[in-house]
Amino acid sequence: MNMPRSLRLLPALLACALLCAGCGVNPVTGSSELSFVSEQEEIRIGQSQYGPSQQSQGGVLNLYPDLSAYVSRVGMSLARVSDRPELPYEFVVLDNSVPNAWALPGGKIAVNRGLLYELDDEAQLAAVLGHEIVHAAARHGAKQQEKGTLLNIGLAVIGVATAGTGLQDLAMQGAQLGGAMVQTRYGRDAELESDRFGMQYMARAGYDPQGAVALQQRFVQLSDGKQPAGFSALFASHPPSQERVDANRRTASRLGAGGRDGRADFQRAMAQLKRDRPAYEAYAKGVTAMNQNQYAEALKYSREAIRLQEREGQFHELAAAAQSRLDLPADAIKSLNRAVALNQSYYRPYLMRGTLHLKRGNLDVAKQDLTVANKLLPTADATFGLGEIAQKEGDIDTALRYYDPVARSQSQLAAEARNRIARLRSGYQP
Ligand SMILES: [Zn+2]
Repeated sequence: MNMPRSLRLLPALLACALLCAGCGVNPVTGSSELSFVSEQEEIRIGQSQYGPSQQSQGGVLNLYPDLSAYVSRVGMSLARVSDRPELPYEFVVLDNSVPNAWALPGGKIAVNRGLLYELDDEAQLAAVLGHEIVHAAARHGAKQQEKGTLLNIGLAVIGVATAGTGLQDLAMQGAQLGGAMVQTRYGRDAELESDRFGMQYMARAGYDPQGAVALQQRFVQLSDGKQPAGFSALFASHPPSQERVDANRRTASRLGAGGRDGRADFQRAMAQLKRDRPAYEAYAKGVTAMNQNQYAEALKYSREAIRLQEREGQFHELAAAAQSRLDLPADAIKSLNRAVALNQSYYRPYLMRGTLHLKRGNLDVAKQDLTVANKLLPTADATFGLGEIAQKEGDIDTALRYYDPVARSQSQLAAEARNRIARLRSGYQP
């Protein structure tokens, strides 16, 4: 039988398509490599995961808009002179004490408040951001994606973003959450590559590349023995080493001296955050107390933090978590109202308030809050809560639709969701 000509050509066309998508030149290093993720796909992955990744890592630090704009300016000055200036770069500061930074494919980058405290000048900030830009530009994350080491982050989040129904747990989960992509380990070669090309971008943007040497030296010192708590995330994804310090020294001497360190500008941009450090320290003590079930103590520290800086939403969340445990639900809701007013784009106070309202039988407001929370970051807690509301309202189809993804998640609510589905399907109403 005669195949139409177009069909006969199909195998050849397919082979070509595979070859064309499969072979390429790395845009940063210039070496040839296999790639199955197109640039559009890279950008799409980064764009779709950026919001949930930010939410699960503490949300955007909105209390210091000038500092955020400053970090973004420094990042963009490096991105413009990078090997892929056309990527849709974005830089945010996250409200997270853990010293960490990460990059998603397509140039979506974040640095935590906790890491900014560890830096001395703008050149060191440029070293952090330049390094992350290379992870994105050289497709380090996209390559991990190809190896299949990364899960669909949406599913991962719904799996991990639950920690029982207690507000205590909810208030603490920020640091542990986050998709696999944020915690990607790139390996030694990728780290060296990111240091080397990041320093080139620094030099091109007018910074002294010595900033990258000083930064790496600092991290080696911190990782040596008594590393302060919280560094494990950064060091797991970007392991510091004497090898990297030495390599950075060689790169710096090759690039030559003469750039600026931007110390005064950095210190000016950081001034308010530094003044507020005692408030964040009181908050950290409160979180520790909360984790040890010392609720009165946690409430005391939250009040201390609020006295020092009233406009940080997370301080009010901590107060709410403690108040809820101390059986002061009305106070807790008041604290959460303040937290929401201070930051309307962070999922956690909505989730906490919705959960409290649900417990008190205020189904309409609970539904509103949990819906907003789920839009910002889908969690098993909010999804289960919405199922419960639907069930209470007698809307069994909707309840099943909410319980289903929870039942299939790895959350602590999975078993309970499966029970409820079984009961609803057999027509038994508890
Ligand atoms: Zn790295």
